[in-house]
Amino acid sequence: MTKTSKTYDVLIVGGGPAGSCCAMALQASGLRVALLEKTRFPRNKVCGDAIPLGVVRWLSRVDPDCAKALQNLDTIAPIRTIRLVSPKGKAYDRRWYPDSFTCKRADFDAFLLNWAAKAPNLDVFMETAVNTVDVDATGVAVETDNNQVFRAKIVIGCDGSNSVIRKQLTDTRIDPAHYGVAVRAYYKHLSGLPPATLEFHFIKGIVPGYLWIYPMHDNTANVGLGMLSRALIKNKSNIRDLFHMALESPGLRHRFANAEMVGKLEGHSLPLGSRTIPVSGNRFMLCGDAASLVDPLAGDGIGQAVFSGIQAGWHAQHCAEQNDFSAAMMHAYDEVLAAKYRRNFAKRYLLQRIVSANLWLIGLSFTLFGFSAKSHLLVKRLID
Ligand SMILES: Cc1cc2nc3c(=O)[nH]c(=O)nc-3n(C[C@H](O)[C@H](O)[C@H](O)COP(=O)(O)OP(=O)(O)OC[C@H]3O[C@@H](n4cnc5c(N)ncnc54)[C@H](O)[C@@H]3O)c2cc1C
Repeated sequence: MTKTSKTYDVLIVGGGPAGSCCAMALQASGLRVALLEKTRFPRNKVCGDAIPLGVVRWLSRVDPDCAKALQNLDTIAPIRTIRLVSPKGKAYDRRWYPDSFTCKRADFDAFLLNWAAKAPNLDVFMETAVNTVDVDATGVAVETDNNQVFRAKIVIGCDGSNSVIRKQLTDTRIDPAHYGVAVRAYYKHLSGLPPATLEFHFIKGIVPGYLWIYPMHDNTANVGLGMLSRALIKNKSNIRDLFHMALESPGLRHRFANAEMVGKLEGHSLPLGSRTIPVSGNRFMLCGDAASLVDPLAGDGIGQAVFSGIQAGWHAQHCAEQNDFSAAMMHAYDEVLAAKYRRNFAKRYLLQRIVSANLWLIGLSFTLFGFSAKSHLLVKRLID
């Protein structure tokens, strides 16, 4: 079959939050941009659906109208409180920040991509999966599964945890010490749901990890469990079995007695930001999960996808102005991400390991809370 060929200034691979926000950051750049997404939207994305702090703030920087429209979506459920539940069932509530909410990823991601697609400089190609990427002195060429060749000056890999761009343009390999795995399912008729609250349950025998219960706008709850891959391999455990074990634990069993799963239990990997990997090189940058930016303690990654997507978009524009797409020029992007995340992630990875090995610390913190500033600090660090 003959291949069709198209030429742009910038190629974005992947239309999740990283890809859409990258496109938005480029909307006033004057550059011609193509976004290639392998699925058709709205598409299911395995996630806890908790849209973290900072997403609205960063969106406001590139497109205030988009940030406002997002907050007015009728598919979001605002969050007011965070609840941590210790292995002994003791609960600690903390008021949460005003701009956080839950939203099913099918709705959230479709909203962002539809918004980004309004920009006249952007062409979106759905059901177009990138198979190969080649970089040479003159530019970048990607080939897709539907026999198209796209050429550009630069490619931005926003293609998630199994990123083709990362695999083909860097030597980074999967390391179970820096990968998580998580499963989630939606439930209806779950009892005892506190209003507008994200619940985190620490359960004896399930470490390092926690079970979350997040309320959704349609009266269902997103229930999930995340674990470190290395721990699962070491203990020869299966995360689906652990999930069902958690629902049977004494503190939760009664709440799930009449609950019904809607759909099925689904899982996905989480590339943690606890190690430093190259996130750019000659004519490319990586964003979001492709750049391993998931918080090693809490497991969230949407905020980092939005931030890195925007930064990569801005940096691509700067490179185009200088007409310099060399690895040395790209490296400034690594530095932006390192300054924002690396030190903090290293600390949070350490904290995750300490707490996982000493689960009693959570119980102790709850008991001491109110008397000791240090225990308060530990609980606060687990949440923030
Ligand atoms: C079970 C689970 C629960 C989670 N819960 C939360 C949470 O509550 N809050 C939070 O902040 N984070 C959470 N995360 C992490 C969050 O889902 C990710 O960090 C986030 O989706 C990263 O966004 P992204 O745009 O980088 O990648 P993605 O959202 O994965 O988007 C990548 C896109 O690229 C497309 N793509 C992939 N390969 C190709 C290709 N070859 N060609 C073209 N397109 C391609 C995909 O179809 C996809 O649309 C969770 C993760 C898991 C697994």
